[in-house]
Amino acid sequence: MNALSVKIDTVALLCAAKMRPTRQRQALAQLLFWGGHRHVTAEELHREARVAGVTVSLATVYNSLHRLTRAGLLREVAVDSEKRFFDTNVSHHHHLLDERTGELSDVDEGELLIAGLPDVPDGMEIKSVDVVVRVGVADGR
Ligand SMILES: [Zn+2]
Repeated sequence: MNALSVKIDTVALLCAAKMRPTRQRQALAQLLFWGGHRHVTAEELHREARVAGVTVSLATVYNSLHRLTRAGLLREVAVDSEKRFFDTNVSHHHHLLDERTGELSDVDEGELLIAGLPDVPDGMEIKSVDVVVRVGVADGR
């Protein structure tokens, strides 16, 4: 199985996001959603598109990812000021970042307990808490 052998209904998906289903967007949606949950950066998706023979600019990739995020079909995860992943798993969960490989993986909400939360300004409420647990090689190894 690969990204092009498992056909998903990219037209319905893009229409749900109120995006015109252009050939490029359909190809990007196919690459994003064909094989279950994944975390991908815009640059990675751009590279995958090129490998698949899809001619698309990085700007179009960014634009599509942001529109899919606004439509609730992706979730953006910022791991630092320069690296942002787009997550096809939009349910609430946390993340583990392998600092050696840069790979992001899911941590179920129940695996991480938050013991306290800060006070928030009057009239405000906490909407979500997103934790990125960073792991690296243990000292002395
Ligand atoms: Zn995730």
